Amino acid sequence: MTVFADLVGQEQAVAVLSRAAAAAAEVIAGGRGAGMTHAWLFTGPPGSGREDAARAFAAALLCPDGGCGHCDQCHQVLIGSHPDLETVRPAGLSYSVKQTRELILRAAGAPTQGRWRVILFEDADRATESAANALLKAIEEPPPRTVWLLCAPAPDDLMITIRSRCRLVTLATPSTEAVAHVLATRDSVPWETAGFAARAAQGHISRARSLALDEDVRRRREAVLAIPKSLTGVGECVSAAERLVKTAEEEAAAATATLNESETAELRRLYGEGSTGKGLNRGLVRGGAGALKELEDRQKSRATRIKRDSLDAALLELVSFYRDVLAMQFGAAVELANDDLRFDLDQIARASTPEETLRRIDAIMRCRERLDANVNPQIAIEAMMLALRG
Ligand SMILES: [Zn+2]
Repeated sequence: MTVFADLVGQEQAVAVLSRAAAAAAEVIAGGRGAGMTHAWLFTGPPGSGREDAARAFAAALLCPDGGCGHCDQCHQVLIGSHPDLETVRPAGLSYSVKQTRELILRAAGAPTQGRWRVILFEDADRATESAANALLKAIEEPPPRTVWLLCAPAPDDLMITIRSRCRLVTLATPSTEAVAHVLATRDSVPWETAGFAARAAQGHISRARSLALDEDVRRRREAVLAIPKSLTGVGECVSAAERLVKTAEEEAAAATATLNESETAELRRLYGEGSTGKGLNRGLVRGGAGALKELEDRQKSRATRIKRDSLDAALLELVSFYRDVLAMQFGAAVELANDDLRFDLDQIARASTPEETLRRIDAIMRCRERLDANVNPQIAIEAMMLALRG
């Protein structure tokens, strides 16, 4: 088994990456390595596994065996501890030019293990414009042993100047069967659950995995999909909006609480809080206040992002619901994402017209746009619920 075996339904990308890894090995061996590229852009819809593909490629570059999947090098890459792999995961809503400059300096270092220095930049689309400009310069003239792996939903999400200097790897949405197969064979999920989770997640493999393995996630999905039939009056719409926002807030709080605490404690320790020294030490503590403020800002930005992602996931869930309704109204012979809710789907399909369903889907998409544009979530979602009621 190689590191590429985990990339479900991505035969085309795997072929490209395997060839590139072979070319890279040629370079290491002193050959020309035609086909080796120093900047890559991994794109694909959410859940298609952009980061997984980039990480597998990093392992293939750093493993002396082209990504065997079981040596120390491979293992270190996959758990994120390899000294020559730096993973950048913008935690907040954006990645600053200051952070980018520091990153570029680190990227320029020679590989410690004699192969490559790999920078895996997840969500590269979150780089601010000035950060992207700084990045461009680094990509234009990469040190001979540095490889940049950028990930973004679509090529258009990056400036054309960056995009045009990267080799593009496009990941496809894996089929329901492929996802179910992986869950059943690699995660030991019973076939029936695997099928349900794969359908409900619509090709989003990590979402499918958490649906299959985590009961809380299943419960949250049920709560979201119970919304359409609950919207019988204005009061119900307002309270459904409130519940959705509150769940997202709770999710963000839970995901960040422990992380925030340990980061803050670490920072306080670094700046020697609690010591009573004078002079130099006082200066340190003063510098600490600024650093603490910066950390708090970053933490706030991260919480906002998690909350927004969680809301967006719920909205996409609702879109999948109404898409199923539409399929039923048209009598289309397609697989329903929410086959387990056939009864609810059928009731709403009978009680409304396809035009109304399309209008509802539209209202959800508009709400996503408004959230993206920083409209107050409660207000945006309330307006959407009222539109869903019709
Ligand atoms: Zn290996």
